[in-house]
Amino acid sequence: MQQVDINLQELLKKYGGAVPRYTSYPTAPEWKTPYSETAFEAAIEASNLEGNNYSLYLHLPFCESQCYYCACNIIISKKHEISKSYIKRIKEEIEYIGEKISPNRKVIQMAWGGGTPTFLHPDELEEIYEHLAKYFNLLDRADEPFFNHEYSIEIDPRVTSTEHLKTLSRLGFNRLSMGVQDFNEKTQEAINRIQTYESVENILKIARDNNFSSVNFDLIYGLPHQNLETFKKTIEQVIKLSPERIALFNYAHIPDFFPFQKKYIEEETLPDQKTKLEIFEFAMRSFIAEGYEFIGLDHFARPEDELSKAHKSKKLYRNFQGYTTHDGCDLFGIGLTAISSVQGTYKQNKKKLSEYYNEEEPFAAEKFFISDMQDIERKEIIKEIMCHFYTELDYKKYKKEYYLLESFTQDGLIELNHVTPNKNHLGNKKFSITVTELGRLFVRNIASVFDYYLNQKNAHKLFSKSL
Ligand code: SF4
Repeated sequence: MQQVDINLQELLKKYGGAVPRYTSYPTAPEWKTPYSETAFEAAIEASNLEGNNYSLYLHLPFCESQCYYCACNIIISKKHEISKSYIKRIKEEIEYIGEKISPNRKVIQMAWGGGTPTFLHPDELEEIYEHLAKYFNLLDRADEPFFNHEYSIEIDPRVTSTEHLKTLSRLGFNRLSMGVQDFNEKTQEAINRIQTYESVENILKIARDNNFSSVNFDLIYGLPHQNLETFKKTIEQVIKLSPERIALFNYAHIPDFFPFQKKYIEEETLPDQKTKLEIFEFAMRSFIAEGYEFIGLDHFARPEDELSKAHKSKKLYRNFQGYTTHDGCDLFGIGLTAISSVQGTYKQNKKKLSEYYNEEEPFAAEKFFISDMQDIERKEIIKEIMCHFYTELDYKKYKKEYYLLESFTQDGLIELNHVTPNKNHLGNKKFSITVTELGRLFVRNIASVFDYYLNQKNAHKLFSKSL
């Protein structure tokens, strides 16, 4: 990536502002349709007619302690009995959703996230899984060669036991995602997340012994006390452990929005933009040199991993978990704050536990949105840019965007080409956008050119920075 040497600092000044991550389009702040259960059911019915396999997400919101950087919807408690009433409620929601989905459709992708799913006892995880299996057409390891399915779970090495992983593997989970963030002790203290290299190494070994075929590490740059030297050590340690996937996220410091950040993260301890860039650049080069493929934005994967394969075969997709492997799947979300995305309709569940438990209005929405044709078309364009790094568009229809894209061309982030042979007469002809290797770092800026809502005057701008 030679171009990086030339102008990354300059590009960062220009494009380093807040931009959506495009795990959906339109983005969640735009979901303002009043909730209609009938409309949601109609979307599910339409998805049944399509008959496609689908994704399932289950949200388990509990954590034993608060990591100060965290921006997730979580409930902190050391009392594990708190999960009992939650399990009762998600079982009800499993029935509520499961009964509406055609049994001919299969769950090709499943993710359990949180919070910390392994806050729950292994028996509780099994209880939920067994209930899911009654209402959803789940696959198991014997199906793996035929369906290439991915059943993944987020784990926190601090609260995950051998029994957890043995149970999860037996049930059919084949992927793990582990929050690592940074191995540096000073940083760990400042973010209230102490976990040793040895504990991560140990959990990884247990995962390997129990046939988890893909393990992801989440790392975060931009945390307190990080500098290039400290993070180099973390990168060395990560490479030594050799997970199949790495997500290297930029810490989103938004203290006005997250009280724990405001109270506990001292701004003067945060690395400046230049340091953050050095860290990212070094990490990127190191992972690529070690044989990882740069998928885009902040994801790296081993060439033999399904994420790399999906990238090569143009099956890569984005949903609320980031880059995933099964393009275009409907997604059904279960649990507090969970999001469903079905045939262009988005529904986010209630965010407050008391409202999620409310029997008067069962499974009402916190947010809801029904896409129109323009949304669906722009969603497809944004997906192609974010996932395939290439799209072809009608010049007449996207003339305004074409001219906005020219500055990205000058900066070497994209190539704009006329698809038709006559290069001087665009007329109603098509043009193509190819995101360069350098452009993948700023791919959400490029995609944002097609975000109708973001480009309105009073657009919501509370997004994380692109680098
Ligand atoms: S364990 Fe994960 S979800 Fe829980 S507070 Fe820490 S970062 Fe957030």
